[in-house]
Amino acid sequence: MKALVYRGPNEKEWIDVEKPTLQKPTDVIVKIDKTTICGTDLHILKGNVPAVTDGRILGHEGIGTVESVGESVRNFKPGDKVIISCVTACGSCTYCKQQLYAHCEDGGWILGHLIDGTQAEYVRIPHADNSLYHVPEGVNEEALVMLSDILPTGLEIGVHNGRVKPGDTVVIVGAGPIGLSALLAAQFYSPSALIMVDLDDHRLAKAVEFGATHTINSGSSNAVEQILALTDGVGVDVAMEAVGIPATFDVCQKILKPGGVLANIGVHGKPVDFHIEELWIKNITVTTGLVSTYSTPMLLNTVIGEKVKPEQLVSHRFPLHDMLKAYDVFSNASEEEAIKIILEND
Ligand SMILES: [Zn+2]
Ligand SMILES: [Zn+2]
Repeated sequence: MKALVYRGPNEKEWIDVEKPTLQKPTDVIVKIDKTTICGTDLHILKGNVPAVTDGRILGHEGIGTVESVGESVRNFKPGDKVIISCVTACGSCTYCKQQLYAHCEDGGWILGHLIDGTQAEYVRIPHADNSLYHVPEGVNEEALVMLSDILPTGLEIGVHNGRVKPGDTVVIVGAGPIGLSALLAAQFYSPSALIMVDLDDHRLAKAVEFGATHTINSGSSNAVEQILALTDGVGVDVAMEAVGIPATFDVCQKILKPGGVLANIGVHGKPVDFHIEELWIKNITVTTGLVSTYSTPMLLNTVIGEKVKPEQLVSHRFPLHDMLKAYDVFSNASEEEAIKIILEND
């Protein structure tokens, strides 16, 4: 089968590899129908995730069709259409019992990281009963690809950690796929203001389409001053950091009102300056995290009921075998006006 294989920093290939086989009784082999590329895959390709070794198939998102199942798999059978969760969960360890599947002792984020991933014609999914979801009839399949990772991440790490409540003022710094997912998910809770900050006017225009009440281009104006001006000088209830660099974290810590929450979603590669000398007195909360995907069943219901339309995030579509072209487009997201790319297996 064909797959996108990591070959060390800045090297990747779309090549023939061996098709995966069942290794444990709890495994399922899924034929990929649709997959996508994540910002995390670009981090890996830069060499920033050393746990990913030469020869690894990348990708942790997608939907597919079950091809074969291990003998102890109960919930799935060949032919079933499934959503693949980016997080693998055994369902029985200490962390799984707390719904902290991100830290499952025999799972967590392993797909396209510690084991072969979804940017391939087939993928092996361990602990399939707890790591796959049935695709309901008649639901937009592109929407479901967004349920593998980015919509649960926006909801759990942005909106739930940020404790967004009706009437809150919310800032999201970063209007990439994750920031825009947090923007969609925040609207379940009816905040009064949803302010999006980014450097890219195309992404800010998308943010308005998706429900932002205000946008700020932080390249052409001072984001902190603008946000304070929009909130009568007091700041916001919730600031979500959806980039992962010191400058955007700094904006978030400067615009919180007393009692506010800074929900960090971004993946940071460097330390940040945390101004505890100014913040200690403000009764703020700072949260961080890796998605557990505990919210996937709930999000699936909201997609079925059309309460959220994550398919809006899809900007480009390619056949699966155009993987390298899709990577080129996604790597130049700003010029290409790319948000999420769907790769379809034919
Ligand atoms: Zn991802
Ligand atoms: Zn577990």
